Amino acid sequence: MSSGNRVDEIFDRFLSGGKIFNNRDVLRHDYIPDKLPHRAEHIQRLANILAPSLNGSKVSNAFIYGKTGTGKTAVAKYVLNRLKEKANALGAPLKICYINCRLAGTNYRILADLCKSLEVDVPFTGLAVSELLDRYKEKLNLLNLNEIVTLDEIDFLVKRNEDSLLYELTRINEFLRGNWVGLIGISNDLRFKEYLDARVLSCLSEEEVIFKPYSADELYDILSERAKSAFIEGALQDSSLKLCAAYAAREHGDARRALDLLRVAGELAEREGSNTILDKHVKEALQKIEDDRFVEALKYLPLHQKIILIGVYHLDSLCAEGSITGDLYELYTELCTSIFVEPLTQRRVSGLLNELDILGLLNTRVVSFGRYGRTKKIKLGVPSKIIAEVLSDDDVVGSLLKHEAKLKHKRG
Ligand code: ADP
Ligand code: MG
Repeated sequence: MSSGNRVDEIFDRFLSGGKIFNNRDVLRHDYIPDKLPHRAEHIQRLANILAPSLNGSKVSNAFIYGKTGTGKTAVAKYVLNRLKEKANALGAPLKICYINCRLAGTNYRILADLCKSLEVDVPFTGLAVSELLDRYKEKLNLLNLNEIVTLDEIDFLVKRNEDSLLYELTRINEFLRGNWVGLIGISNDLRFKEYLDARVLSCLSEEEVIFKPYSADELYDILSERAKSAFIEGALQDSSLKLCAAYAAREHGDARRALDLLRVAGELAEREGSNTILDKHVKEALQKIEDDRFVEALKYLPLHQKIILIGVYHLDSLCAEGSITGDLYELYTELCTSIFVEPLTQRRVSGLLNELDILGLLNTRVVSFGRYGRTKKIKLGVPSKIIAEVLSDDDVVGSLLKHEAKLKHKRG
């Protein structure tokens, strides 16, 4: 078949609607379904916390945390949407504002969003953050409004060392005239609490709601509910659904991963012209998602991490056992010199090795050499093929992939 015909075939299949998807959009991350299986308790808990706002009483601040994909954002939006409808129907003087701190990016954007929720006009940039905060408070007082402010992925505020905004927000009620702001903080990072100022923490966590990872059975229920509207009837085998749930549970019970697997498996089946999603499509999808994740991580690595990885890449090909720190450092300096980059100290490199291990790009393990002391065994955590593919396009380090190591004492 000529490639022209093949392209036509792809277009035709697309136009005829394919044989797999009925509505791909319901598998998107931001889609909020009408039913959230296995989260009824969390929904009720949050509804109980927020209900007093409907007759004007101040609500307790709440702190929601749990790993990614455990339904925190979905549950919060679900309850907030219903609260908003109820408040509108009652004509309650209540505003509701949802902000994702990671996406908002800066304190300025977060405050601008808060102002916007009260229809206060603010320029895109240019004012002092404190000025925005003042305008926000003034408008709340002027309209005598209460507001529930949800700060999702709130850990990003603290990671950027911008927790002063959090501090200001937890004190905001002192400047209001009887009306109030209730805060809901949501974090994917379980250790986030350790980083918080004690006063901010106690204020924020008047109520705590914890989201546990889903089990494989729970993920199965979530996926099958979603699959009903996502796929054409009969396009999804039950065994494939089970496999998606099992894979996602193996990681940490992440519903987002489970939905991604299902979507990508569907796309692979569709691309193949199959009218059923088979187990093999799910297996391929798992591989594809993992590879894509590595590709993203690799692309945005700082220079020295890339050089270190290329060092491990070469040593891995010399010795399948994995390399040791000393050899790696020697090769790393050799690589740096060959592209006129000043090498970092061994100590710094050791720190970077740990970071690469955390990212899953390397696997390191401490081994003992008896009286010669201890060292680290290092292996790639990524298929070497992916390193070669991604980094060969890199202007600075690409040439290093072809480097002939001059190591003095090759092991293995
Ligand atoms: P988190 O905010 O905890 O990282 P999300 O709420 O964004 O997780 O959930 C990830 C994805 O999984 C979203 O697409 C969401 O709609 C879906 N999801 C999570 N929990 C459920 C559930 N109980 N029922 C249906 N879909 C869910
Ligand atoms: Mg979330």
